[in-house]
Amino acid sequence: MTVIDNPGTVAARRGHLIPGHITAADAPVFERRSPFDGSLVAEVVLGTPADTRAAIAAARNAFDHGPWPKLPGTERAKILLRWAGLVRENAEELARLETAEVGKPIGFARAGDVPATLDTIEAAALAAAHVKGELHDDLGGAIMGLVRREPVGVVGAIVPWNFPALLYSHKVAFALAAGCTVVVKPSEFTSGSAILLTRLAHRAGVPEDALVLVTGTGPDAGQPLAESTDVDLLSFTGSTRTARLLAAVDRPYPQVQHFELGGKGATIVFADADLDQAVDGALFGFAINNGETCTAGTRLLVEDAIADEFVARLAQKAAQLTVGDPWSESTVVGPLIHAQHTARVRGFIDEAAAAGSVVISPELPASTSPESFVAPTIIDRVETDSRLFQEEVFGPVLAVKRFSGVDEAVRLANSTVYGLANSIWTSDTSTALTVARALKSGTVWINTIHDTPGTLPFGGVAGSGIGREKGVEGLVGFTQLKTITVQVAPRSPIYG
Ligand code: NAD
Repeated sequence: MTVIDNPGTVAARRGHLIPGHITAADAPVFERRSPFDGSLVAEVVLGTPADTRAAIAAARNAFDHGPWPKLPGTERAKILLRWAGLVRENAEELARLETAEVGKPIGFARAGDVPATLDTIEAAALAAAHVKGELHDDLGGAIMGLVRREPVGVVGAIVPWNFPALLYSHKVAFALAAGCTVVVKPSEFTSGSAILLTRLAHRAGVPEDALVLVTGTGPDAGQPLAESTDVDLLSFTGSTRTARLLAAVDRPYPQVQHFELGGKGATIVFADADLDQAVDGALFGFAINNGETCTAGTRLLVEDAIADEFVARLAQKAAQLTVGDPWSESTVVGPLIHAQHTARVRGFIDEAAAAGSVVISPELPASTSPESFVAPTIIDRVETDSRLFQEEVFGPVLAVKRFSGVDEAVRLANSTVYGLANSIWTSDTSTALTVARALKSGTVWINTIHDTPGTLPFGGVAGSGIGREKGVEGLVGFTQLKTITVQVAPRSPIYG
């Protein structure tokens, strides 16, 4: 095969990391091509269900018989901190992998994804040292209760393509911190950063069988993680459609499953907001990561009194964003993940235009193809029952709706099946907190957007998922309780 001379490329062939497991030299591969110029980035081994079962067996054995779950939390913490140090040393390579495979602008990969991944691993390390049980000493004189918090076991981690390194760290770092062993299945489009992070974890001291990785497609390499009774918890980030499939797979008994799914975030701007800040926030809100972001603020709800001025200012700023080569430091919007996805995003725009909405879309630069790129597009006068207002687009497209007063803002924001993240822009603290309390979402930002420190819990409600990642709660999610009841005084026999 020919491998392009691409600075993001670390390996011609990418495949499983399972100790003792040999992949046939002629195993079928998936060609990952650059979403920017179509050049070959890597060949990725297409894992089979048997490969995934081998990965599960390794992680099962590591959990049942290996040292990792039994290490003191402080020891796991030190290893995770060493891992963070190695990630820091390899930050540039990680950023380049993200740009090569995702099409993520390199400036954003360097300043956004990589520091957030590091922050998440470090937050997991800090949490690892603080797993606590409980002593119940008020149960009467005869018994005492000990409640142990134990690692849940083997975790299956399925990761999507839009933030491959960061979302890997949400799951893997916290599961390891809790003492679990992990089988990771990255997206077939973006295996490179997951493989690099896994290798660095092994170098830092995570046993090779405590963290294993299988590459390939969802149905073949991923689904066995939901079917196996040797996987105690499935942590999935991806589409609601796939989550429904995974929740319904045939297995002898239910599995603990955490789902981080899609979103349809609202950026809610009140007339008293600092408009410079709000315009900047609304733009970053929907253009971030080419719009391929679950927490993107893809609906702008703007108060009537300022709506025309706000949309005009936003459109003017959107037209100034550089669209194009993701390897250029000045690029803000790069190519979408693949041509089929770009066509789907364009479908939303065309449908809204046909329905009479006002589409404000800057011209694409001559160097970019409409099959790969979508300029940051603002669509005004959108109907609330339209697909554009209700469904996840996953591209740089913003639907605008005007409102009057707090009640209407909340009603509109809460009118989709999703509940992941919303932002509120106002100078009135009372308005901000009233709306924040009424919003149906796992995260609310006030006068900011997309701030997600590793020490804060993250997750969705309703159609956006179940469970929380990151923070202490993110670690607790990878544990289960064991109640131990101890007789501490002479026991009265039941049967005399
Ligand atoms: P996807 O559901 O198609 O794929 C996600 C992962 O699941 C990939 O690794 C894929 O290979 C795997 N998969 C697909 N079918 C499977 C099956 N039958 N069994 C097991 N695994 C399977 O989603 P995507 O297109 O990769 O990612 C985009 C979606 O992810 C969007 O809906 C986005 O909102 C969501 N997302 C959510 C969050 C969050 O934290 N809530 C974060 C990022 C992305």
